[in-house]
Amino acid sequence: MDRPHEDCGVFGICGDDRAAQRAFFGLYALQHRGQESSGIAVADAGRIKLKRGTGLVSQVFDRSDFGSLLAGRAAIGHNRYSTTGLSNVENAQPIRVQFKRGPIAAAHNGNLVDAAKHRRTMEEQGSIFQTTSDSEVVLHLIARSEGGTIPEMVLDALGRVAGSYSFLFLTPDQLIAARDPQGFRPLCLGRLDNAMVVASETCAFDIMGAHYIRDIEPGEVLVIDGRGLDSLRLPKADRLSHCIFEFIYFSRPDSQVFGEPVDKIRRRLGCLLAEEHPCPDADIVISVPDSANTAALGYAEASGIRFEIGLIRNHYIGRTFIAPEQNMRDRDVRVKYNTVAGVLRGRKVVMIDDSIVRGTTLRKLVRLVRSGGAAEVHVRVSSPPICSPCHFGIDISQKAELIAANHDTEEVRAFVGADSLRYLSVEKLRRVVDRPEDFCFACFTGDYPAPTPRAFDKNMFANGTEG
Ligand code: SF4
Repeated sequence: MDRPHEDCGVFGICGDDRAAQRAFFGLYALQHRGQESSGIAVADAGRIKLKRGTGLVSQVFDRSDFGSLLAGRAAIGHNRYSTTGLSNVENAQPIRVQFKRGPIAAAHNGNLVDAAKHRRTMEEQGSIFQTTSDSEVVLHLIARSEGGTIPEMVLDALGRVAGSYSFLFLTPDQLIAARDPQGFRPLCLGRLDNAMVVASETCAFDIMGAHYIRDIEPGEVLVIDGRGLDSLRLPKADRLSHCIFEFIYFSRPDSQVFGEPVDKIRRRLGCLLAEEHPCPDADIVISVPDSANTAALGYAEASGIRFEIGLIRNHYIGRTFIAPEQNMRDRDVRVKYNTVAGVLRGRKVVMIDDSIVRGTTLRKLVRLVRSGGAAEVHVRVSSPPICSPCHFGIDISQKAELIAANHDTEEVRAFVGADSLRYLSVEKLRRVVDRPEDFCFACFTGDYPAPTPRAFDKNMFANGTEG
């Protein structure tokens, strides 16, 4: 993919003396889902303690945080990549507020499409917001609810909003995990000894030796406390809408999401791409690392063309890296990637990428691979052209940014400078999962599975949400 399009990662744990440390490791495993900010909230002795900051998990927390500062037996954590709201520390999550029932903290992955409407109404009634984030709207709705218990108030509040969410709430006594009725974003439940854990992806369980139990079901509000688990239900949706992009790009290949191993589905994408768009004269298959590695393996396996590592990615570059040499052509891509000349020289190369958003990075990569000596560069993309913005938690928000929304395949090929360019078709993409009717493909088809805001504006609150 040619620009970072992470959404957000959430992690929660209840019933462990080292809850904050576990959250730290869980967030560490979920770093790929958001790198703008990170935070952990811990329940301890009737209070909710919080630490948040901008940057990577390893930059926000240090060893000293895990003494008394973040002591407690239940915690939630969040890695943020903003899909609505400005990128600043006020918008870092979890968000903690005090309401009539005491303190509560929230961490959200998704996008509430009607947040602006709710917020306008509340502001007219005198409400004050601390952030520009859509997630804060839900905390206000919880505070206004007349439900008898906090879980009932959460159920009531979530019943009033539309859009995508995997939410974690923390009170001094309970961890509440909720997933929207269409199940847009993943949320998994696991066990670590006597503690229960929840996370966006199962790779967060593996890092601490926790075991996956099941997904939080679409429309489920799962209450976890000292007494065990209690499952409440939101009204059922007409259809499910799991985000297919989780399999194409967002989730780690070692995770399981929507009940399927990501590696298996991503390899299948590569196999289908090879079937649909072979490149029989090519000498080698290479990938745009790391996100296209698994699809490239699938393409190589199905085509019988050898997989080689022709591009190397430097993993130690932060999001805010600024090259000291401003005039270096393609400097950003050259800082991030290098070629293996011995692999590329004189070879006809099939280069696999997972998706194309703007095409600008791919253009630089094609140039880089040619300068590394490749005789021909044939690009194969393991997803269809992205033609429509996402309104459900992924930062593909402006149609004007999408090269395929405004140019046909030949024009995109000419722009990126490849010898040939082919995308996986929507028909083949739908075949990658057993029940395509349960998935959202809207950014490829424009066929949205739920209402979208009429004029979506990333900074719609423009003065403090979520990924
Ligand atoms: S529009 Fe695309 S990115 Fe957004 S939820 Fe649907 S499939 Fe996922």
